[in-house]
Amino acid sequence: MKPRTGTVRFAQPARHVARVTLQRPKVRNAQNTALIEDLAAAIRRARDDDEVRVVILAAAGPHFSSGHDLKAQMGLEAPDEWRRMRSTAEGRYRHEREMYFDKCLEIHDLPKVTIAQVQGGCIAAGMMLACMCDLIVASEDAFFANPVVRMTAAGVELLVEPWEIGFRKAKEFLFTGESIDAREAWRLGLANRVVPRDELAAETLALARRIAEVPLSTLRTVKDSINQAQDFAGKGHSLRYHFLAHQFQHSTKTSLDALDERRALGSVRAMVAARDARPTGRNTAAGGKRRGGRE
Ligand code: ZN
Repeated sequence: MKPRTGTVRFAQPARHVARVTLQRPKVRNAQNTALIEDLAAAIRRARDDDEVRVVILAAAGPHFSSGHDLKAQMGLEAPDEWRRMRSTAEGRYRHEREMYFDKCLEIHDLPKVTIAQVQGGCIAAGMMLACMCDLIVASEDAFFANPVVRMTAAGVELLVEPWEIGFRKAKEFLFTGESIDAREAWRLGLANRVVPRDELAAETLALARRIAEVPLSTLRTVKDSINQAQDFAGKGHSLRYHFLAHQFQHSTKTSLDALDERRALGSVRAMVAARDARPTGRNTAAGGKRRGGRE
């Protein structure tokens, strides 16, 4: 199957190396349905090609990815079948399971070595996506953030932070919504290497070529073994637990009120600003006024 090339580009920049590039730079590579499907097709193409040993996941433009395309998800652009499905809890579960959770794990478990090539913003589901890769090479201007807890959602669908930056830092990172710059990402072990922005593509390719000298069979065995070590520590169960907890949080009054307010005020930014400006103790999205509720 040949992947569509509209939102994702597939290339083979060197022997045994494939590069998959997100191609929605005007919207900071926000992940809409087309991009997620094109990415899955490109990943499967790399998986099915026995010549490919290493896959680089790159992104066009100044930012890696701003996360899920919330405008598309809310139907502010062309309506899509998945968006209609999200009006019920079971439909939203199915959407997030098939389009986010399962597709992310396909990358996580890909029988190839994967390297995320990250510049600029790597935010929320953008960070979730980058963290599915085995290695991360970041440019000096890269930053990682997951502000969705500030918007009342329980993180994104796969809770990668405890595995990437440690338990205590994960809590601070999610509770505050503050970003981590490239140097801090390197210090925490989130990024393997930090390089100047104009050397990012070349340095990532050089790393990919070096790894691609090792036979695929060996790379797969070692990757599987390290992934298995994480699973023995509970990663797989932990991701599944969080996915269900995330679904629960979507269906709470807290989240539904926030969604109403976001629609009423027109943007997430306005919703969060209004919430943060309210006196403490009235932190449901509608304050106690509209629905009279407390958490
Ligand atoms: Zn979700």
